[in-house]
Amino acid sequence: MSRVVVVGGGYGGSAVAKALDEHTDVVLVEPKEAFVHAAGSLRALVRPDWAENIFFPYDRLLTRGRVVRDRAASVGPDGVTLPSGERIAADHVVLATGSGYPYPAKTDTDSAAEALERLRATHKELADAPRVLIVGAGPVGLELSGEIKAVWPDKRVTVVDPAERLVPGFEPDLREALHRQLDELGVRVRLGTALTEQPPTEPARAGTFTVGTTGGPITADIWFRCHGVRVNGGFLDDALSAAVTPQGRVRVTESLTVEGFEHVHAVGDITDLAEAKMAGYAMQHADVVAKNILARVRGERPTATYHPSPVPSILLPLGPEAGVGQFPTPDGTTILPPEAVARYKGADLFTGRFVELFGVDRQP
Ligand SMILES: Cc1cc2nc3c(=O)[nH]c(=O)nc-3n(C[C@H](O)[C@H](O)[C@H](O)COP(=O)(O)OP(=O)(O)OC[C@H]3O[C@@H](n4cnc5c(N)ncnc54)[C@H](O)[C@@H]3O)c2cc1C
Repeated sequence: MSRVVVVGGGYGGSAVAKALDEHTDVVLVEPKEAFVHAAGSLRALVRPDWAENIFFPYDRLLTRGRVVRDRAASVGPDGVTLPSGERIAADHVVLATGSGYPYPAKTDTDSAAEALERLRATHKELADAPRVLIVGAGPVGLELSGEIKAVWPDKRVTVVDPAERLVPGFEPDLREALHRQLDELGVRVRLGTALTEQPPTEPARAGTFTVGTTGGPITADIWFRCHGVRVNGGFLDDALSAAVTPQGRVRVTESLTVEGFEHVHAVGDITDLAEAKMAGYAMQHADVVAKNILARVRGERPTATYHPSPVPSILLPLGPEAGVGQFPTPDGTTILPPEAVARYKGADLFTGRFVELFGVDRQP
């Protein structure tokens, strides 16, 4: 039976591993104790009673294959080496190590219990902080502002960003709706505003401070860094490194094989596809890669391809009941009203679909 080694069990890697489990010998290499559903992490911060919902243990993801709880130290076209030196040979390799993001948007520990404890500790510090500064007005910073306001409407929440416009690349109607809803929530958005110095406190730690910005000083009691995605790479061997871009991403073909390697695939944030880095896309990549690997295993020609959509989509909740959304339809672009954003995403932040994927006994 063909051995497929999937490196990284995030959105893309878990989906590939699951799709191939029945027909191949899958080994999923992942250091985390449980899958962390990043789209729910900001709700987990403001709602500690709900926080457990973002963790999904790997033990029921696969029935035939196995999960190796470790980090790949080196990955080549024919297998993976673990930090211990142990080698896992592969007929097919799938790179799915995604990206890191400053806490709390993505967790910074491999232990689910520690991650939960840290979220709950930060919640306590945030609860006692009347003034919150969010640095970065991308989807993560804005989503955080909405989650905070939904729980603590009286907190003073300020979001700063050097950019002049929110969500560039999206429809003007979406942008207007976003500004309107942020105003209604009382979130102060300061665009064209950069920090002129680092705040003296650690991000996500309470402590009153005043920091200089190009728009004047801001005083706050806690701040969050909401920018700075890092691609998780650095473990590719000399052969595969030839396909790495200066940004650390991996060049892929339309079949989602790594350029120059027919048996090495890549999915999710590690790919250099011209699209926003999103879990939804990572799962679409997973579908294409699983189909192509299964075709090869059957001795057929792989025919599934992936082409990024020219129209970007987004679902950006501002708490459980507000938010904006845009997605492409055959008739053009549809802008969603807040009730639809809440229904599709805001209410449960997609936790339901992972309950099914990971086979956990839990109500979404
Ligand atoms: C707050 C927040 C909200 C978001 N909301 C949405 C949303 O609503 N919709 C959406 O589509 N996208 C959303 N995103 C983006 C989404 O989280 C990313 O696009 C997604 O995580 C990428 O998935 P991935 O499978 O490429 O990798 P990841 O989910 O980043 O997973 C990579 C995995 O690889 C593992 N790994 C890393 N290094 C190694 C190694 N050396 N060896 C083995 N394993 C390794 C990591 O532990 C991790 O589990 C959000 C992001 C954030 C931060």
